[in-house]
Amino acid sequence: MRELEGALRSYAWGSRTAIAELRGLATPSNHPEAELWLGAHPGDPARVITESGSESLLEVLHREPERELGRENLDAFGERLPFLLKLLAAEEPLSLQAHPSAVQADEGFRRENALGVPMESPIRNYKDGSHKPELVVALSRFEALAGFREPTRTVKLLRALAVDELEPYIGLLEGQPDSDGLRALFTTWITLPSTVLGTLLPAVLAGCITYVAHHDAEFVTEIRTALELSEAYPGDAGVLAALLLNRVTLEPGQGLFLAAGNLHAYLHGLAVEIMANSDNVLRGGLTPKHVDVPELLRVLDFVGADIEVLDPAPSSGSGQSGSGQSGSGRYEYVTPAPEFRLTRLEFDSNATDLVVEAGGPRILICTDGAVTATCGADTLDLDRGRAAWIAADEPVVHLTTRTPTAQVFSAVVGR
Ligand SMILES: [Zn+2]
Repeated sequence: MRELEGALRSYAWGSRTAIAELRGLATPSNHPEAELWLGAHPGDPARVITESGSESLLEVLHREPERELGRENLDAFGERLPFLLKLLAAEEPLSLQAHPSAVQADEGFRRENALGVPMESPIRNYKDGSHKPELVVALSRFEALAGFREPTRTVKLLRALAVDELEPYIGLLEGQPDSDGLRALFTTWITLPSTVLGTLLPAVLAGCITYVAHHDAEFVTEIRTALELSEAYPGDAGVLAALLLNRVTLEPGQGLFLAAGNLHAYLHGLAVEIMANSDNVLRGGLTPKHVDVPELLRVLDFVGADIEVLDPAPSSGSGQSGSGQSGSGRYEYVTPAPEFRLTRLEFDSNATDLVVEAGGPRILICTDGAVTATCGADTLDLDRGRAAWIAADEPVVHLTTRTPTAQVFSAVVGR
């Protein structure tokens, strides 16, 4: 068990306070801090703290893959850590995006390699051959758009805007209120000639302004979001597309799993995020970056449905030590992703000692309070914002709280 130092990523949409504050550093930070990467992605690996300084987790894995990753993991995923854990702090909305399935990623990566598209090229879609299922768990209230809304409700929303120019598009979806109708409407909007977009979008936004001024009802959050997005990305067809998506608010502790093809945009908030170790993103707008519409349309899942928020109850069974109430303190986020499993450990007077099982590579991050981690002969103080790497061949980790309440996230390989 060694302390792990994350790699800080500065993107324009990041926060100057949220990640720095969580790590106990001065605020505001000099640059917007968007993500802290805790993993072994070749693009920005975390660093393992050693007696003589620090070393890239990627190098640590390469030197002793079997000890660090375990035989089972090497057989299943090759010589790589299959998951990437992050802190994510969105001050401004991220781009509208989706991620490919495993088959699509493999095919796309080979195709772009065969075409000779350079890895650094702005038009490169596939940076690797892996899918990128992802799970986000809110630390603060977290706002997002995710997945297409059930089409009859979208018809109701669009009609509530009372915009004449929208009628043909509403008719299209009303005549076919299913995934084919959503595909047709989304495809039409995202590929509108600029002259048509130039009259439709202002009319829709005028309808949105009237709606939020006179309604405190059903769709006010959705419509307000469209107005906010249009301020950030004026003239972007992604603003229309955003009207088709579920508007989601996660309270702290709630999670959202995004499978392949789910069109989504994170809007605001601080979260823990875990994903397959991939950087494959297909953008659909709300960004100055490359948008490849045909490729996006190939991967999108157009099924319109309510989004499922993960709100785990404390799990019972193994993992509990000490004299606490059986099962309290452990919250498992169950997803179908084989690459990762995320557990939230909540410490209080009922759960002062919790265990992270042995059996594979593990990353822990303390997001509130302070705990002491004991693993064999090693001990490590994990205060808020600090993280640890535990190799596959190391034993169980005992965590003991040093504050009245504390919170730790544990990331392990799924399966
Ligand atoms: Zn994403």
